[in-house]
Amino acid sequence: MRRIYLDHAATTPTHPEVVKAMLPYFTDAFGNPSSIYSYGQEAKGAIEEARKKVADLIGARDEEIVFTSGGTEADNQAIKGVAYANESRGNHIITSSIEHHAVLETCKFLEKRGFDVTYLPVDESGMVDPGDVQKAITNKTILISVMHANNEMGTIEPIAEIGRVARKAEIYFHTDAVQTVGHILVNVNELGVDLLSMSAHKLYGPKGVGALYVRKGSRLTPFMHGGEQERRQRASTENVPGIVGFGKAVELARQEMSQEAERITYLRDQLIKGLLERIDHVRLNGHHTKRLPSNVNVSVEYVEGESMVLNLDLEGICASTGSACSSSSLEPSHVLLAMGLPHELAHGSLRFSLGKWTTEEEIKRVLDVLPRIIAKLRAMSPLLKSRK
Ligand code: PLP
Repeated sequence: MRRIYLDHAATTPTHPEVVKAMLPYFTDAFGNPSSIYSYGQEAKGAIEEARKKVADLIGARDEEIVFTSGGTEADNQAIKGVAYANESRGNHIITSSIEHHAVLETCKFLEKRGFDVTYLPVDESGMVDPGDVQKAITNKTILISVMHANNEMGTIEPIAEIGRVARKAEIYFHTDAVQTVGHILVNVNELGVDLLSMSAHKLYGPKGVGALYVRKGSRLTPFMHGGEQERRQRASTENVPGIVGFGKAVELARQEMSQEAERITYLRDQLIKGLLERIDHVRLNGHHTKRLPSNVNVSVEYVEGESMVLNLDLEGICASTGSACSSSSLEPSHVLLAMGLPHELAHGSLRFSLGKWTTEEEIKRVLDVLPRIIAKLRAMSPLLKSRK
């Protein structure tokens, strides 16, 4: 059975060109970038080339990019780094209630160590109100962290507006752009951010590598201590093949992004339309227009999300109930609850995230298979029987 992969928000397949670009750095070009002889300098050159590509994609300067082990580390570094370096100015952080766990758990960690965190609400489409950000600011606020686009329901947040609020109040502004970099236009100056997190495996690069953009002049405490790599901002021998792969993935994204976004948006809208037409008691979660080109998130009444995912898997279709990180927990999504969905609807959520190799035939197959699965599950559903 040919599998249909529709979980690109969890991870993307590594592009064959990316694998090809990485391979020499496992074999012939294996040097340590800190070594001064030619093997080392070759590896160092490759890192700097990748850094330039990443910086160019988001309108940053090369020296403002710090390579990390992924999006989680970038989020941790941004938030803890600003918190610890600016403690003397204040201890208040503003974030939203729909952030990825990499941000939320970091904030909770800091709360236990004397920081004060405001978790802003969102409206029913998952949107943060920049006015709420403004109102939450106190004279102790040192950081605002609001994600660029949500990984579960795809809503794109008003980052440029929040950036203006942050800039006026002279407060550091971080955005988790793990779901947007390489998919839609991201420019650090247009967004007005000081810190921005990225992850290679969400844009057809390898897992275990990402980057944090740090605006020149920002004060951050590093949390990896050791050597002088990454201009002393992140010790440890660099993941050279990973960084090279990230650079290649960025290069490809740059060439293909606008065309791909258009193609995928078309397929996304076909899928949304088909699901709403063919299934009763289904609702689209997230913003109708300000959403990621790849994201479809629906709540299906009287059915458990996990049952739909497992039944789709039996048909060779990979989808998820929401975030890959929380898919092993049976708790409903904190994102959908924050948007005001009742528990039953949050439990019946299903996310499809489309990608580079998704075809119209695949979308048609989902539209053919899913209504049958839902009819079968509903026929057995105690949730539905209790309503009758
Ligand atoms: N932030 C967001 C919005 C994500 O979607 C993810 C991954 O799911 C992360 C952070 C974590 O990135 P990584 O897997 O590279 O640590």
